Amino acid sequence: MQTLTGLDTAALTNIVKSIGQPAYRGKQLADSIYTQRVRSIDEITTLPVALRQSLSETYTIGSCTVIGKQEAVDGTIKYLLSFNDGEVVETVFLPYENRTSICISSQVGCPMGCSFCATGTEGLVRNLTTAEIIDQLLIVQALQPEKRISHVVMMGMGEPLLNLPNVIEALTLMANEMGLSWRHLTVSTVGVIPAIEKLAQMDLPLTLAVSLHAPTDDLRDELVPLNRKHNIARLMQACSEYVYQTNRRLTFEYVLLAGVNDRDEDAHALGKLLAKQPLCALNTIPYNSTDVEAAYKRPQSASTRRFRDIVASYGVTVTQRQERGQKIAAACGQLKRSALRSGHSLIPLQMLKADA
Ligand code: SF4
Repeated sequence: MQTLTGLDTAALTNIVKSIGQPAYRGKQLADSIYTQRVRSIDEITTLPVALRQSLSETYTIGSCTVIGKQEAVDGTIKYLLSFNDGEVVETVFLPYENRTSICISSQVGCPMGCSFCATGTEGLVRNLTTAEIIDQLLIVQALQPEKRISHVVMMGMGEPLLNLPNVIEALTLMANEMGLSWRHLTVSTVGVIPAIEKLAQMDLPLTLAVSLHAPTDDLRDELVPLNRKHNIARLMQACSEYVYQTNRRLTFEYVLLAGVNDRDEDAHALGKLLAKQPLCALNTIPYNSTDVEAAYKRPQSASTRRFRDIVASYGVTVTQRQERGQKIAAACGQLKRSALRSGHSLIPLQMLKADA
């Protein structure tokens, strides 16, 4: 069986035409999948029964199911989603006062091996398909119908720029078929320079977020192994060229690890580095781990404030990510890892509801 999810209106129209149906049935199919978010062909009552039966012989809708979730008191919900081959990723629903976001995965596992990341310890299993990427949004939106998800961040499991064609195809569907604004679609990367260059050529009005995490090569080599191949100087050059070509502001992400990359000297080095970058802002994220064995620790609020003030003194715009779901395994990969460690690859829904 093939899934219809991940196909645009033109491709769906071709399918219905190939079985002798008028073209407008393709649009009805697309509306059912992307606007009404039906999860079964049988539910598409706008289509004649015979067409539904005919489509059901070859196609399904959707490509994932929810196998677990963990909910925080602030409304953040981390879902564990399973695909047809049994592989699992995390997707996080993030309701804020003024918007609702979702953090989506792009790969099962990740080959980048960042030292502070639970997903990085897994290695890469495979890329997600276009359908598997967009279906994370569709299934979570179907489960949360009262809150329209307006912002998508590709900051879940995996390095999105290593799966660029499928990521861009999924984002295009979100914009064209679901009506999300390109400006509310964010792609993050730890710095895959050839892909940043390719993205610059595409000139899409999305937001690029570059995970920097260290101001010097010595430290970044340790935290983000990709830096040994694409060092900070080359990365900064690629970021500048991206900004010149697209005229889009770029965000640098920086996870603060107590005593590792949040020292005064790191803040000064970072301030000097970013002061030279065009149209950029820094977003700090205090490390969040629920794992007592974690090698890194979360910094105190006073030291994160001090870090931000020092960087800002160089004229850099600095924000701190509004933290959500701190009491759940909120950092990337932690829920999946704790599920696997507990010996249950399948966690019953509701069992993981976090304490208040
Ligand atoms: S931080 Fe991102 S790029 Fe690094 S290992 Fe984790 S998922 Fe991969």
